[in-house]
Amino acid sequence: MVDARQAAYLQALGVDVYVPRDAAQRARPAAIAVAPVATAAEVAPVAASPAHGESSWDELRAAVAACQRCELHTSRTQTVFGVGNPGARWMFIGEAPGAEEDRQGEPFVGRAGQLLTAMIRALGMQREDVYIANVLKCRPPGNRDPKPAEAASCRAYLERQVALVDPTLVIAVGRIAAQDLLATETPIAKLRGKVHSFGSKPWPLLVTYHPAYLLRSPGEKRKAWQDLVYARQLFARLEGEAASAGRA
Ligand code: SF4
Repeated sequence: MVDARQAAYLQALGVDVYVPRDAAQRARPAAIAVAPVATAAEVAPVAASPAHGESSWDELRAAVAACQRCELHTSRTQTVFGVGNPGARWMFIGEAPGAEEDRQGEPFVGRAGQLLTAMIRALGMQREDVYIANVLKCRPPGNRDPKPAEAASCRAYLERQVALVDPTLVIAVGRIAAQDLLATETPIAKLRGKVHSFGSKPWPLLVTYHPAYLLRSPGEKRKAWQDLVYARQLFARLEGEAASAGRA
């Protein structure tokens, strides 16, 4: 159901929301088509790196701050570790810090960050409720794409972050993050709408568009909204299954 608050955020996203015409229709949720779903079992998980497997948050943060494992340490202003609730049920993973993130030391700030925050609010949460991180902790110069070797060098930090948060659901934000996390070159359009898995547990993972892309291509915002609707449905199902398993 799209309530008034969510409708306001969808308006901020530039997404038109279907409004029922009569009372009978008002009783039903807004109908949004969602792509067919593959189960987690149908998608092979990506193996986790053993490095930093036992690190605490403080140890991990210190390791990242001092890291010189790839050439990006020479051009960064500071590392961008991640932000949010360390016990979050939702985790959003983007590509890499941009210029503003490098300056502020926080992922997803600036206009793209504001749009991500609006997307999180459309899910009924505040930014502080979720955990947000990037594949890379240092900014690639000129906002170029991360090199595979850089992502591989940084992978153990992210895997430990995901393990420490232990979210119910991971959202890969944008093509680069999705393809890196899933070790695939499949186009993002074919990765959306399917349940993937990531890491050692493995954690369920969905893919959506990067807000910077949505700002450049506002016509795609409706697809991003479909992704959020599906993510909310999947999250509810996963939480329900976890509760049932706990009661068993
Ligand atoms: S990008 Fe990652 S691996 Fe490279 S220097 Fe920064 S923290 Fe280290």
